[in-house]
Amino acid sequence: MNEIIRKTQAGVTNGSLDPQEWSAFRDLAHLMLDEAIDGIANVRARPVWQPIPDEVRAAVRSDEPREATDLAEVYREFSEHVAPYATGNVHPGFMGWVHGGGTAVGMVAEMLAAGLNANLGGRDHMPIEIERQIVEWMRGLFGFPQGASGIFVTGTSMANLMAVLVARTNALGALARQHGIGGDGALLTAYASKAAHGCISRAMDIAGFGTDALRQIDIDADHRIDVAALRARIACDREVGFMPFLVTASAGTVDIGAIDDLKAIAELCREEGIWFHVDGAFGALAILSPELAPLLDGIAFADSIALDFHKWGQVPYDAGLLLVRDGERHRQAFAQPAAYLSREARGLAAGAVWPCDLGPDLSRGFRALKTWFTLKTFGTIRLGEVIARSCALARYLETRVLAEPRLELLAPVNLNIVCFRYRADDAVNREVVADIQESGIAAPSSTILDGKFAIRAAIVNHRTEESDIDALVAAVIKFGMQRTGGVIEVEAPPLATQ
Ligand SMILES: *Cc1c(COP(=O)(O)O)cnc(C)c1O
Repeated sequence: MNEIIRKTQAGVTNGSLDPQEWSAFRDLAHLMLDEAIDGIANVRARPVWQPIPDEVRAAVRSDEPREATDLAEVYREFSEHVAPYATGNVHPGFMGWVHGGGTAVGMVAEMLAAGLNANLGGRDHMPIEIERQIVEWMRGLFGFPQGASGIFVTGTSMANLMAVLVARTNALGALARQHGIGGDGALLTAYASKAAHGCISRAMDIAGFGTDALRQIDIDADHRIDVAALRARIACDREVGFMPFLVTASAGTVDIGAIDDLKAIAELCREEGIWFHVDGAFGALAILSPELAPLLDGIAFADSIALDFHKWGQVPYDAGLLLVRDGERHRQAFAQPAAYLSREARGLAAGAVWPCDLGPDLSRGFRALKTWFTLKTFGTIRLGEVIARSCALARYLETRVLAEPRLELLAPVNLNIVCFRYRADDAVNREVVADIQESGIAAPSSTILDGKFAIRAAIVNHRTEESDIDALVAAVIKFGMQRTGGVIEVEAPPLATQ
């Protein structure tokens, strides 16, 4: 009998996935940490990005790994096949899209979070208190009242979708969650500028309204929503029986970093009784810079704000946040009774409102920890300075472009984004962007402005310096000349004469 128990116990013990040899694991883990730190410390020694060789793609294709592989071997595969071929946004030469650079601090915080393996869907534990503390800091920064609520999500795409759902429940009442959006729902219309991020239109689709229900309002020369046109469109929609329910303003458009007139939109939404949401994906954190914060004037009147810590906040991916002025309305859009999730006054099941009452996720990771470490170790003053500095670097790039006859500036520089091109046609510039990316020198992206292909440099990474801007300019000129055989098509006088 004792023999059987001993055997059973042995069997159970062997079921654990913990290392058999903790000391060997510890050595390897320390090596991994050292190499991960080296990867950040020596990032300049690497190309920003490099094309993935076919052999590398092929090397990771395999059958389902039914048998165990040594950790050291799996790590070797990671080091050889994955790490060298990442996006490159850790590198100071990365200026594509709007990608944050991450920090070494954020990296180790992410590791600590993984060690706790906390589930932040609910219950009473300190990780949730950390998330609440960050929401509280953001509430203060954006001037939201007591009773505001917030929740970490993957990113602003999700936060914008959730804002649409909160605004929907606000407009139709909580019963719409039971009966569906129905006939009234079909009449709801939302508004954003033509320069708004595509995820807003997608949110309307996913929420069941369809993208046609999003009215895309014209922009002015500075790419800000035309508030008079917005007002007129709302009136026109009301006239024919639609029910305007949501305006999403952009605080930092993705193409050129324009910030809508938040004050005027707030005023309009107040008069009209319409939910006022701000997509502040990267731009909202400009609030941390005393120099830039005035650009966000009016954001305190928003009903909700979506923002990302993983862009200008330099927190490793992913870390988005939705902040809602009226926490009760936020809860009404998502909370759901379920016996297996019942809340208690004491014990582990205490601590309502739970985060799962504030969004679609039940199980949730501890995104707040890397954000907490980042905000605390650097301090919001320093993070604000980093943000202001990337705007200064964008102005430096603007100056370089204006001073260089072979280059052409394509949009005003508002924040940290510069859209320009080599003086040649779209096809040449498209090749130039790919040439630069493949060279490993820098990684700009592209956009289309007024029908013209633009090279787009978004300065987000805290590591980027003037020399990185110089390297980008030199690369554009070099590849532009190569692609055109040195011929410059001067279609217009250089903007430098302005
Ligand atoms: C990046 C961005 C988004 C999308 O945010 P994700 O975090 O990528 O989901 C939305 N709006 C704007 C203005 C953005 O810059």
